[in-house]
Amino acid sequence: MLSIKNLHASVEDKDILKGINLEVKAGEVHAIMGPNGSGKSTLSAVIAGNENYEVTEGSITLDGEDLADLAPEERAHKGVFLSFQYPVEIPGVSVTNFMKTAINESRKAKGLEEMPANEMLKLIREKSELLEIDRKFMSRSLNEGFSGGEKKRNEIFQMAMLEPKLAILDETDSGLDIDALRIVANGVNKLKSDQNAIVVITHYQRLLDYIVPDFVHVLYNGRIVKSGGKELAYELEEKGYDWIKNEN
Ligand code: ADP
Ligand code: MG
Ligand code: MG
Repeated sequence: MLSIKNLHASVEDKDILKGINLEVKAGEVHAIMGPNGSGKSTLSAVIAGNENYEVTEGSITLDGEDLADLAPEERAHKGVFLSFQYPVEIPGVSVTNFMKTAINESRKAKGLEEMPANEMLKLIREKSELLEIDRKFMSRSLNEGFSGGEKKRNEIFQMAMLEPKLAILDETDSGLDIDALRIVANGVNKLKSDQNAIVVITHYQRLLDYIVPDFVHVLYNGRIVKSGGKELAYELEEKGYDWIKNEN
């Protein structure tokens, strides 16, 4: 599904990604771990097409299609979803209404008509029940006064509604509490299927107590320096990142 080959990327002439290779197939959950400043968020931003980063070498393909010339919205319409690290607040626009607009814009981009209101309601009900999101939450203003956990809930709801092919969840080091971790993990576990792939980026091993990844990669200094199964996450928890730094 996702194929990254020899990816180099820079920001303001500073090389950040220095030859990333990664293959993600449908049905797989990959975790990307690594010390702070390794380039984890940069990698997710580059996959999503963030224009602040320049790809200087290598390629990213999704189902065989090169993403290089596609804008972030176009990538989203092809099924790439990136969780928002710093979601915007939109006072007066509810979680539900924001999502309706997003769905219809995505349909428009694909040349489809707006989703009929009853179908939309059914979809919203189905997804919010799946994720155990209550009605009151759905009518709140987007991100306004949201707690960390509520932001995560909204993010996972967006993912559930948009049904991306490839979801990249960048779980920042911004101190997610245990509730927020559970929300993310439950969401991922419920939404994963053999049709989609999920890449979870995390500094901490503890998220992986709840999401069991098929593969774990360690990113360090712009390169994937180690890959393995879920046991690699435990090894990192035990030993920290210093041995990785020393080996590289
Ligand atoms: P991680 O997510 O692994 O903590 P990042 O991808 O956020 O790492 O950052 C990797 C490196 O790139 C860091 O040295 C960071 O300072 C630098 N960097 C990332 N984005 C920018 C930017 N927009 N401008 C300048 N430097 C950046
Ligand atoms: Mg960081
Ligand atoms: Mg980061």
